[in-house]
Amino acid sequence: MISIINTEPRFVCDDNLGKLARYLRVGGFDTVFDKNIADSAIIQISLDEQRHILTRDHRLIERTLVRDYFLIENNLWPDQLRTVMNHFGLQFKKERMFVRCLEDNTVIVPVEKKEIKDLVYPFTYKTHDEFRQCPICKRVYWSGTHITVITDRLKQNGFVIVDQGTGSATGGL
Ligand SMILES: [Zn+2]
Repeated sequence: MISIINTEPRFVCDDNLGKLARYLRVGGFDTVFDKNIADSAIIQISLDEQRHILTRDHRLIERTLVRDYFLIENNLWPDQLRTVMNHFGLQFKKERMFVRCLEDNTVIVPVEKKEIKDLVYPFTYKTHDEFRQCPICKRVYWSGTHITVITDRLKQNGFVIVDQGTGSATGGL
């Protein structure tokens, strides 16, 4: 059986596309980004891991080994994100959002509250019971205001967030 997640497109972004990469990760989409990454590494990762290269760089796509790329002409992240999501047929789905570390793309995992006590502010510890943690960078995530802020920012920019639990969609203009 092939899971839906495995058939979803995966990406590697060039070093200009940090914000785009971050918002793709917010949506749960598997996106490699490193602001210090060399063009040759982007190409190698694309080949090794079958990732689409997302790039603003015309010179990058002219290199011989580059086969699978999507050239982005937009300057602003909301336009870039919209273009990519339309092109690849992606949707923000509530249950798939905030499942990856925004810093390094790793899938975050539930963690015992007591284990992260020293890693969050006392107020956060006191007011929340469910935490998740990135196994790589150890960053802790919880259902706090940053999730509301990011979700609102997406909605303000016209993105729809599908809630399959209720079958309803929120946001959009
Ligand atoms: Zn991380």
